[in-house]
Amino acid sequence: YKFPLLQFFAGAMVPTSIPEETVPEVAFVGRSNVGKSSLINALAESSTVRTSDKPGLTQQLNFYSVGRLFNIVDMPGYGFAFVDEEKRLAWRELMETYMTKRSTLKMVYVTIDARHGLKVGDKDFLAMLDKNRVPFQVVLTKCDLIILPTLARRYMMVLDDVNNYRHARKEVALVSSRTQSGVNQLRKEILKTVGN
Ligand code: GDP
Repeated sequence: YKFPLLQFFAGAMVPTSIPEETVPEVAFVGRSNVGKSSLINALAESSTVRTSDKPGLTQQLNFYSVGRLFNIVDMPGYGFAFVDEEKRLAWRELMETYMTKRSTLKMVYVTIDARHGLKVGDKDFLAMLDKNRVPFQVVLTKCDLIILPTLARRYMMVLDDVNNYRHARKEVALVSSRTQSGVNQLRKEILKTVGN
């Protein structure tokens, strides 16, 4: 499986600058440093998405066109210790407006570091998605960094948690951008999700 060329086409810092709905979209969200940008690049075999972003800098939604067939949206990470409340509220409004009103949004991939699993903050975020009927799937990243028995245990735990949400895909993807493990499988699932 292969993605067509990934190209950045819009950034939105406020809800009013979100581009109009056209092709199907999938979005990626996760805490800063979880490996989200590396994953998008691995999926698209590109180096377009800037990796190792410093947390708390540009908090915007980044829209990438994938050969004009579908879009990938890189969402600002959640779980930041925001310095000021105003910024936190603006971030929340942007994310919630986008995710709850976007009819072209087919799936939100929530990236979680395989070493950490789901923390309280992550579960709060999943509950928010579920409440708003946003379809989502959990993706465990950096799977190369833990030994197989630990990974198997973490997978079972997360799958168990995910089963509690109505709008969650009852499956957990295991990936490593470093070894490419699981990347092709996820690529295939994304193509299916956007109807290709
Ligand atoms: P983001 O902030 O979630 O976009 O995270 P990045 O993609 O920028 O990655 C954060 C750090 O984790 C970088 O130093 C990456 O090299 C590293 N990283 C990303 N993916 C993997 C992975 O699959 N395995 C390992 N070992 N490191 C990774």
